[in-house]
Amino acid sequence: MARHFDAIAIGSGLGGLTAAALYARSGRRVLVLERSDICGGAATVYRHGPLAIEASLHEIDGLDEDDPKLPILRSLRLDRDLTFVDVGDLYEVRGQEIGEPFALPCGVEQALRAITARFPHRAAELAEYFRRLVAARDAIALAARHREDPGFWLLHVPETVRRLWPLLREGRATVSEVLDELFGAEEAIKLALAANLSYFHDDPAKMPFLRFAIPQASYLLGGGHYIRGGSQALSDRLVELIRQSNGVVETKREVDTLIIDEDRVLGVAHHDHGRTDVSVEYAPVVFGNAAPQHLAQMLPEACRHAFLAPYRSRHPSISLWTIALGLSRPPADFGVRHYSTFILPPWVRTLGAMRDAGAILGEEPGTRLPPYSFVDYHRIDDALNPTPPYLGTLCGIDRLSNWTSLSAETKQKRKTRWMDRLIGDLDRRAGRDLGWMPRGRCAYRLQGCGRESAGDRDARRHSRGGFAMDQNSYRMRHA
Ligand SMILES: Cc1cc2nc3c(=O)[nH]c(=O)nc-3n(C[C@H](O)[C@H](O)[C@H](O)COP(=O)(O)OP(=O)(O)OC[C@H]3O[C@@H](n4cnc5c(N)ncnc54)[C@H](O)[C@@H]3O)c2cc1C
Repeated sequence: MARHFDAIAIGSGLGGLTAAALYARSGRRVLVLERSDICGGAATVYRHGPLAIEASLHEIDGLDEDDPKLPILRSLRLDRDLTFVDVGDLYEVRGQEIGEPFALPCGVEQALRAITARFPHRAAELAEYFRRLVAARDAIALAARHREDPGFWLLHVPETVRRLWPLLREGRATVSEVLDELFGAEEAIKLALAANLSYFHDDPAKMPFLRFAIPQASYLLGGGHYIRGGSQALSDRLVELIRQSNGVVETKREVDTLIIDEDRVLGVAHHDHGRTDVSVEYAPVVFGNAAPQHLAQMLPEACRHAFLAPYRSRHPSISLWTIALGLSRPPADFGVRHYSTFILPPWVRTLGAMRDAGAILGEEPGTRLPPYSFVDYHRIDDALNPTPPYLGTLCGIDRLSNWTSLSAETKQKRKTRWMDRLIGDLDRRAGRDLGWMPRGRCAYRLQGCGRESAGDRDARRHSRGGFAMDQNSYRMRHA
């Protein structure tokens, strides 16, 4: 029999779970429907033999008093129920253009000091760069804090104009424009300052500076954090909160239809894996946490065009590939010194070259390697793998189009060749065998896309990703 709820969330990724948990805590009855057999979407930990593998979330920015995420975490008491482990320096970057590996510490003062020591002739510009990052973060924090407080804006006109000015000043400037203005053609500085560009985008000439500055300042001001026990601990806690508030969370249920009446959503239809059990549920609110093109498929054909119209000019976001390694020795034994290390191959001589990184996995492995990061979980109190094998992951920029047209067999062969090539590169850098577990027991694999659930093995199902953070792609509106 059909059930009635106040809201239904399609998908149990962090978006769907957070929306559902907040709604449930406000006294409303929610239903979360997840097609996979575990909750969390990308925020999942899965096991491969003895190894626990973090699917995605290795570093959460900020969590300082000005972080707009903090009120949400606090309202759900996640700040008390979970342990956020400080991961130390933001990253180390290694590459020919950089010379000696450079580590960017957390803390604005510390970061400025470290990079000025490396590039002393640019001291003034570096100070200006950090000032602009922090001003952008301050403006967004102010806007978030007083979003629902019109009295504040009226009473504090001069102060708010001054503090919001950076948002107007940076306007539509891109990362490249701001960095070029400050550092001209000195690419080593840009690579040292933005080695983690892939956290957000692949093309600095398209990414709005503000979109980069706000999270980057957040990392610098509040640090990077890993959830002890993995992102699954966060997902599980959100599920618990929803259930404690009389909400219902069901896995192995795929939503295929949004039921609508004229322009109002009435509910959803969903089915089990075998499509033998079809159910209908009703709610006046549906959190559609899948990508718009997938939600559109759930609508009657006549509505799809209008629903997709706001997204027409937007480009798909980058994807990420990951390889998880089960190492028999801690990565520190072969020269890894930081939690996150970015490795730039010789062809990445400019920050702008990063825009070519996404296409590389679409080629057969040759001489050109993609830039990638290596995350050493054993360096922190991750509570994932206290004894060997130790988890180390490689991650880089990918594109769905690299994989979608390939047959399953060709795709698997190419993945294997790329894994061998990338692990070989790490091996070469370590100067000796990394000591990972023998093939077959080695827990590594390549994910097609950064925006999809860890439970999905097939890159074709990954095509539900979001949009790139380009000039005209600021808002996502869901059903
Ligand atoms: C490799 C990788 C590394 C990352 N690293 C970081 C990091 O270090 N720091 C950081 O802040 N962020 C990171 N992210 C991003 C972060 O993990 C994601 O942005 C976030 O978890 C996405 O949440 P979501 O709810 O939007 O989507 P998802 O996690 O993709 O969740 C969507 C869910 O909806 C389900 N679903 C889809 N369609 C249906 C349907 N029709 N019916 C039922 N269920 C459906 C899916 O199965 C999935 O569970 C990373 C992501 C990846 C993949």
